[in-house]
Amino acid sequence: MILIDGKKVAAELREELKGEVSQLKKQHNKIPGLTVILIGDLTPSQIYVRNKERSAKEVGLNSEVIKYPDSVEEKTVLEKIKELNVDATVSGILVQLPLPKHIDKQKVIETIDPSKDVDGFHPMNVGNLSSGYESSIPCTPLGCYLLIKKIEPNISGKKAVIVGRSNLNGKPMTQLLLKENCTVTITHSKTKDLKSECLQADIIVAAVGIPELVKGDWVKKDAIVIDVGINKTEKGIVGDVNFNEVSKKAKALTPVPGGVGPMTIACLLKNTIECFKRSQI
Ligand code: NAD
Repeated sequence: MILIDGKKVAAELREELKGEVSQLKKQHNKIPGLTVILIGDLTPSQIYVRNKERSAKEVGLNSEVIKYPDSVEEKTVLEKIKELNVDATVSGILVQLPLPKHIDKQKVIETIDPSKDVDGFHPMNVGNLSSGYESSIPCTPLGCYLLIKKIEPNISGKKAVIVGRSNLNGKPMTQLLLKENCTVTITHSKTKDLKSECLQADIIVAAVGIPELVKGDWVKKDAIVIDVGINKTEKGIVGDVNFNEVSKKAKALTPVPGGVGPMTIACLLKNTIECFKRSQI
């Protein structure tokens, strides 16, 4: 079984991006910039944002974090986004989710200029992705896609089963695999027989949030299995896939941690650079 080393692939990608940033600097005399808005003091969000900032600096991007207390008014955040939309030094804007209840997530997402939407959540980017046009692609599914392609560059005609239909993971993952000519089934909490759906898959992507949901006897021999889940349990952080069982069946499997997670941030940097490049045309 191939253990898909997301840490290593992400480090390679960051190295590649570092080279690209120095090339862009020479070419345009400018550096792509990422601005993150962080609201409140949720520990996981603070950790994610710190990691994003560190990685952005590591590849040579300009990086800025704007912090607001939990009590910030929605209006203040929307005004700041509008300011960033017209700031030529800002290539990408990310508002760290989740947001406090009094702030309308959709309004925030739709206020970000789609050309600076490094998370790929703006309806314009969602539409472009599903129409097969150029767009920002949500970072986690993009990371999963790159890992799959690393294992198997030609996946045309493969049967893929996505477990979970979130806007963040499952739905964009479906679009990416459709673009590669996979036959894609998207499953969710109301799917009648998840096991038999998974058993047909050459590629499984699990993005559910239920510890070790996907069992060894759900997986066809030599399938590629990508585990997006991050679940805190008594035995530590586990994914949505039962690693011990599935590693005996799969051709390739991502560990948790060290699989999809590191790719997410690397793909955010990639998206920032892509937004910059598109703005220079
Ligand atoms: P979500 O809660 O938004 O969506 C979960 C999806 O799973 C829903 O579509 C739901 O229909 C489906 N589901 C729920 N129960 C099910 C069941 N019994 N059988 C089949 N489907 C079921 O979750 P999300 O935001 O997509 O996140 C999923 C997991 O991925 C979480 O563990 C989250 O922490 C993790 N995550 C990881 C990364 C990363 O960088 N690795 C990034 C984002 C999310």
